[in-house]
Amino acid sequence: MNTRRKFLQQTLLGSLAVGNADFLFNQADWSEKTDKNAFPAVISTWAPNIKANVAAWQVLAAGGYALDAVEAGVRVPEADPNDTSVGYGGFPDRDGHVTLDACIMDEKGMAGCVTFLQQIMHAVSVARRVMEKTPHVILSGEGALQFALSQGFVKENLLTEKAKKALEEWRVESKYKPIINIERHDTIGMLALDTQRRLCGACSTSGAAFKMHGRVGDSPVIGAGLFVDNEVGAAVCTGLGELVLRTLGSFLVVEEMRRGAHPQKAVETAVKRIVKKYPVQSEEAQVAFVALDRKGRHGAYSIHPGFNYALYQQGENRVIEAGSLFEK
Ligand code: ASP
Repeated sequence: MNTRRKFLQQTLLGSLAVGNADFLFNQADWSEKTDKNAFPAVISTWAPNIKANVAAWQVLAAGGYALDAVEAGVRVPEADPNDTSVGYGGFPDRDGHVTLDACIMDEKGMAGCVTFLQQIMHAVSVARRVMEKTPHVILSGEGALQFALSQGFVKENLLTEKAKKALEEWRVESKYKPIINIERHDTIGMLALDTQRRLCGACSTSGAAFKMHGRVGDSPVIGAGLFVDNEVGAAVCTGLGELVLRTLGSFLVVEEMRRGAHPQKAVETAVKRIVKKYPVQSEEAQVAFVALDRKGRHGAYSIHPGFNYALYQQGENRVIEAGSLFEK
């Protein structure tokens, strides 16, 4: 077995051992090793979401709909109290409220979003209902909550003891200063391409930890946190939402692909745009994109090292370490 093949196999086996950095697949020579050009496929931001990929893959492998796949996938971290960036267990704002942002977009270009939603665990499913049951794209705050309740969702306390304790610790200094890769940016962004080549995406987050009450990030904003165009491809991102909101990063990635760029080149362009425009903030904050085109080719890139993603394709679910613009 040649060395490259051996390394690949070790990595695939290791992909189950999430959290062990030694087992991460390195994206540096992505074109040879990771660019499979095959569907169905599902890709999600951050290593722990390898578990979310499993739920999505179950739908895709059975010939199901990419929209069902991304909803099923995103619901996994939303229900996980140990995921402190999404849904139940998400870190609260500085006043102690867990407020959720989520969105979903289908292959026809329809979209649904919720912002500043409280007490409902599965924000992604509420976003889907907004898309399917209302004439609107975004519902926010109290209106989103009332809509969710009218749809049969139930109120729950999303603030865990762990999250409460983290807030108390944060209050000692009360400084809002994101730390690269551990700034609670484990937002899930997920893209899926099904056997009928329908491309859909979803994103869900509790947003920046200890944010100001009322703050909404990029994740529920179509074109910023997520964009899907079935003719071309889709992109989703994670990181400091303010940098993405000002640059409409996901839309930019898809437009680059429309102009013929490979998904990898497209995500690199979006990262470089942010850094060029906001050099000072970029020094201190992480932003990362993943993209998937309608051929099943993917790309991933971040400002700073340390971003990883999970890709399930051709029956293999792997965590891959993304390339970055800045070096360690
Ligand atoms: N983009 C999210 C936000 O700014 C945070 C994240 O990706 O974790 O709300």
